[in-house]
Amino acid sequence: MVRWAVRRPSVAPLVDRVDPLHDPLVIVMKFGGTSVGGAPAIQQAVEIVRSHALQSPVVVVSALAGVTDTLLGLAADPVGRIADVDALAARHREVLGSLQLDGRLLDPVLGELGERLRGVRLTGEATLQEIDAVASYGERLSARVVAAALSAAGVEATAIDASDAGLRTDSKFGRARPVPDDGRIRRHLTSAAGVPVVTGFFGADEDGNITTLGRHGSDFSAALIGAAVSAEEVQIWTDVAGVHTADPRIVRNARPIPRMSFADVADLGAFGSRVLHPAAMAPLRMKQIPLRVRSTRSPSAEGTLVQERVEGRGKAVRAIAHRDNVALITVRSQRLVPQHTFLSDVFRALDAVGCEAGPVAVGEAAVTVAVEDAHVDAVVEMLGKYGEVDATVGRAVVGLIGDVALEGLGGISGVLDALRRSGIPADFSGLVTMGSGVTLSVPADQLVATVEFLHAACSLED
Ligand code: ADP
Ligand code: ASP
Ligand code: MG
Repeated sequence: MVRWAVRRPSVAPLVDRVDPLHDPLVIVMKFGGTSVGGAPAIQQAVEIVRSHALQSPVVVVSALAGVTDTLLGLAADPVGRIADVDALAARHREVLGSLQLDGRLLDPVLGELGERLRGVRLTGEATLQEIDAVASYGERLSARVVAAALSAAGVEATAIDASDAGLRTDSKFGRARPVPDDGRIRRHLTSAAGVPVVTGFFGADEDGNITTLGRHGSDFSAALIGAAVSAEEVQIWTDVAGVHTADPRIVRNARPIPRMSFADVADLGAFGSRVLHPAAMAPLRMKQIPLRVRSTRSPSAEGTLVQERVEGRGKAVRAIAHRDNVALITVRSQRLVPQHTFLSDVFRALDAVGCEAGPVAVGEAAVTVAVEDAHVDAVVEMLGKYGEVDATVGRAVVGLIGDVALEGLGGISGVLDALRRSGIPADFSGLVTMGSGVTLSVPADQLVATVEFLHAACSLED
């Protein structure tokens, strides 16, 4: 009998593979929240797009920094936070004013948002579907501002809602998954006048209902659009000059990493590092489209180039990732059901709570997950149905990303000993399933000291 070893990507194809040729003329440029956070940032983004005009850019934008949080707050409490609607409108109108654009440009969209919120107020509580619809307004607003700013600067541009551009998803509101593109997106974008400025973060299901791709999902939108148009490159323009060896907000001497593999970046994101959404890697890998992370604050910096493979490098820790303020929750099976049923029950329950659970460690009759502290009560209650539950709150999880060569550090026990000698009570969390990375768990108030210590101790290779 012939036996087959079948290795396939674990995700369903998000884009057709029928067009392997990259269109050398298209690049996708995504600008994150801080990069469109106010008039000066938008002006800077406009200059950056203008300097790439010959490469036929497709622009993807996030909401202005903080706007999605405000919208989610409004959807949760449309009565109590009613003043936020006016503040949101005022902020956008002020940006329009500073950019010398028509102050009424956003009135139709702001009016629509007001209508939706009135609907939520009447029903009392927003459904997940309504929350997604409300959350999409941040990107609808920013795309219109950026397109108008580009046009005013002499670069013809059209704002396009991704839901109208054919970015189709399933109906899992709050965390929708894209369905394969059949050429719709390219058709829509090529018929737009000038530079398309597409909304990040959301799409629509088969019935036209608005769906969001999950928090920080605009990177994913950019990757899906890049794959759909077979872009030569997808550029993520953000507030740091590339992916760094650790979060530069907590490690002062973190350095930008010139080249990284898709797999390492996906691991970094899966640990909760904000810099890139891990889901963005799959569509780009599928079509082998390079990704570049660049800074709107220093546009001449090279940033980080992310590709399938980085040649000529030895085994090394490449970056330190972290998740702050998590609870470690262990569920032990009472063995009343087979292990796979136990695991499927546990993961279904976590999905129902809607929290980011990860990293995860699976043992023979137990599973440990890290979840946000804020979700701990709901998770413990849910999981109590399936086994004995232990929860430790106030922890942080720190991960070493790369081809982890711990030999030089005396193995995992050497790392733990060294941390403990410097006064950090680290534990091996058992959470080892991220690629070839290793994770430790420490009290949340020791997070910065731990990341700094490991950053100095691991010889991080460029
Ligand atoms: P955007 O709004 O542009 O999407 P994000 O705030 O989502 O930007 O991501 C950028 C932030 O990611 C940086 O300001 C930085 O604090 C954080 N970050 C976390 N880990 C890293 C890392 N390893 N390298 C670079 N930035 C990181
Ligand atoms: N605006 C959305 C969020 O804050 C998406 C994004 O910025 O990537 O989650
Ligand atoms: Mg982001």
